[in-house]
Amino acid sequence: MPLMKTDWDVLVEGFLGHLEELKEQGVRFLPVAPQTLAALEALSSKARPLPPPSRTRIDPAPALLLTPEKAQAAVARIEGSPVAPLVPGAANLSAVDQHTRAAAMAELRGRALVCRKCPHLAQSRKNVVFGIGDIHSPLMFVGEAPGADEDAQGEPFVGAAGQLLTRMIRAMGFSRETVYIANILKCRPDTPGQSFGNRKPTAEEMKTCAPYLLEQIGLIQPKVIVALGATAVEGLLGRREGISRLRGHFQDFRGTPVMPTYHPSYLLRSESLAVKRQVWEDMLQVLEKLNVPITEKQRNYFLKASA
Ligand code: SF4
Repeated sequence: MPLMKTDWDVLVEGFLGHLEELKEQGVRFLPVAPQTLAALEALSSKARPLPPPSRTRIDPAPALLLTPEKAQAAVARIEGSPVAPLVPGAANLSAVDQHTRAAAMAELRGRALVCRKCPHLAQSRKNVVFGIGDIHSPLMFVGEAPGADEDAQGEPFVGAAGQLLTRMIRAMGFSRETVYIANILKCRPDTPGQSFGNRKPTAEEMKTCAPYLLEQIGLIQPKVIVALGATAVEGLLGRREGISRLRGHFQDFRGTPVMPTYHPSYLLRSESLAVKRQVWEDMLQVLEKLNVPITEKQRNYFLKASA
C-alpha cells in the first residue's frame, strides 16, 4: 500500500521541482539568507532526516530576509557570471531582480503547496497545481482550475485541452517554457461521489485562492495576460458578461492588458473552424501588443477554412 505523503514531503518535493525548473532555465544562483544556510548545515552535519513541520521552525523566505545590498553582494560573488536574460522582456532586469524574483516565487510556491484554506479541496487533491513556465516571461496564460490530469501530474494544462494550448503557444512562436501558465484555482475542484468529470470552481473557492494568482502576476509582471474561458475571466476580472461578448477585446487588470478568449476545451468540443479562427485572431492581437513580428503564414491560419 502506498505511503501517504505528508505536507512536509509535498513541500520538499515541490521546492526541489522548482529548483530543477530554474536550473533548466539557466538560473545558477539563488540568494539564501545566512540563517537558512546555517540551519541546513546543522541538519546535514547531524545526518538525520528532516523533522516534520509541526516541530520545525521554517525560516522566512530568503527573499524577505535579503536586503538589496546583501543580494547585490551575493550576486557579485558569482565569478564572471552575468545572468543572461531569459527573454527579451527580461533584458532590463538586473541579476539581483531576477534572482530575488525567483526566490520570492519559490517561497510563494512553498506556501501554496501546503495550503489548506479550502479543507475539502486539500482533502481530495493529489497535488497543488501551482503554475509552470518562465517567471520572467512577458506572456502569461490563466485558466480555470486543474482537471484530473493536472491534479495527477501537478502541472497545469497537460490533458487534451492542454496539448491544444501547447500547440497554440507554439504557433505563436513561444513554447511552454517561455510563457507562464497558471490557473485561478490551484487545487482540483472536488466531485464528491463521482470518480470522473470536473466542475467549475465556486465563487468562494476562487476568492479564497485568488491571492496566490495575484502574487504570481505581481512577481512575473507580464506584459499581456490571456484569460482562457469564462471562469478565468470571472476570477480575474469579476466580469460575467459571457466569453463570446468579451473575447477579442483587451480588458485591464491593474494596468496589465488581458485578452479574454475561449478555453481550449471549448475548441476541442467545437467543430467550427470559424471559432478556431476567432481564437487565433485574439492571439494575433496578443502578439501585436507584445510587438512580436507576425509572419504572413501566421496571419493566414484558419483563414480560408473559416471564410
Ligand atoms: S484551492 Fe487555493 S486556497 Fe484552496 S486549498 Fe488549494 S491552494 Fe489553498
